[in-house]
Amino acid sequence: MSDITESIPTSFEELDLSDEILKAVKAMGFTQPSTVQARTIPVMMSGADINAIAPTGTGKTCAFGIPMLEYISLTDECVQEIVLAPTRELAIQIGEELTQLARFIKGARIAVLYGGQPIPKQLNQLKRKPQIIVATPGRLLDHMNRGNIRLNTVHTMVLDEADEMLNMGFVKDVTKIIEATPRDRQLVLFSATTNQDVLTIAWKYQTDPVEITVQATKKDRPQIDQYVIATEQPKKIDHLLYLLDADVYGRIMIFCNTKFMTDKLTSRLRKEGYDVDCLHGDIKQSQRNVVMQNFKKGKFPILIATDVAARGIDVDDVEAVINFDLPTENEYYLHRIGRTGRAQKNGVSFSLVTFQESVRMDEIMKYMIAKPISLHFDDSDVLCDAEEKPFFEHV
Ligand code: ADP
Ligand code: MG
Repeated sequence: MSDITESIPTSFEELDLSDEILKAVKAMGFTQPSTVQARTIPVMMSGADINAIAPTGTGKTCAFGIPMLEYISLTDECVQEIVLAPTRELAIQIGEELTQLARFIKGARIAVLYGGQPIPKQLNQLKRKPQIIVATPGRLLDHMNRGNIRLNTVHTMVLDEADEMLNMGFVKDVTKIIEATPRDRQLVLFSATTNQDVLTIAWKYQTDPVEITVQATKKDRPQIDQYVIATEQPKKIDHLLYLLDADVYGRIMIFCNTKFMTDKLTSRLRKEGYDVDCLHGDIKQSQRNVVMQNFKKGKFPILIATDVAARGIDVDDVEAVINFDLPTENEYYLHRIGRTGRAQKNGVSFSLVTFQESVRMDEIMKYMIAKPISLHFDDSDVLCDAEEKPFFEHV
């Protein structure tokens, strides 16, 4: 019997990747694989089904993206690989990351299909015979029903944010899509947390899946200093302005629970002279893409959003996340603050919490390992810590 001890690769070179991919990850500025990448890539390249659980911000996209690009056949014109994502924004982002990874692979074609974009535009993408399709479930099914796409040649299927996708009521659509693929295709599930629907899909459609669970290690865990600021409803906007006026953070995301509040805050902050834009479900998809791109490019510093934008979106260098409202779902807290402290950079989050909301905050904190620091405004409206020391030095 051989003595096999599991060793986790510490360099991309050890992962047996093609020169094109090695060049691409270098160009993307990655020096070594993250834990989830080191553990997933070899297993996925072996062809096994995978059920991976890893916290947000740990590099899951490349964990499945690299193997996917390693085994497309460039000479075949059929659809070979599918990634399903719960939201349009996430689908677009995965498409971008795959395109980055594929930049040195001549002839790799990736199509991104999501609701809200005109069908003809997407038909043009399909005419280019993509090997890889990234899609939201509803739109992919739509194309399948119209006879635009057949999935009988798919050998690899990835469900990104599977937990979220199934939570959002996509179970039926996802099931239909999986059933349109060959029985022996590889099925890879990625989630931040597991839930019953994920387990059911795994049980029904996977064959001897390899379970990969990655804890948030120090190396991977986003470094986020969380602050909870005690406030009152009528003073919330002033207190938000105080945080913004401190002028300490370059790029900021502010989260609200409703479209109404998002719009209201946006116009208020504009009136105060801030360069802000917003993202929510009532804004046209084309407009949402423009806003997202501009925020990513640093064209404006403050983005106000509902949770549509929270999940899976990776914007580099968000320095601060502000919860103007506390999320109604506990899990969203982590997804929101996970927008900062990405890729081992430090980040900070502020939650403006009224007395009424403090019960919710306690509930949310039950799910968090790292505990937040309490701040409050003193009698002269200066933000202070528990020892009454001003939080911002210069104030
Ligand atoms: P997740 O899907 O786990 O939330 P992402 O795949 O969105 O995480 O990756 C988070 C960020 O980390 C992205 O900006 C990505 O480009 C970056 N990243 C991915 N892999 C690495 C790596 N090996 N080294 C450094 N940064 C990485
Ligand atoms: Mg992701």
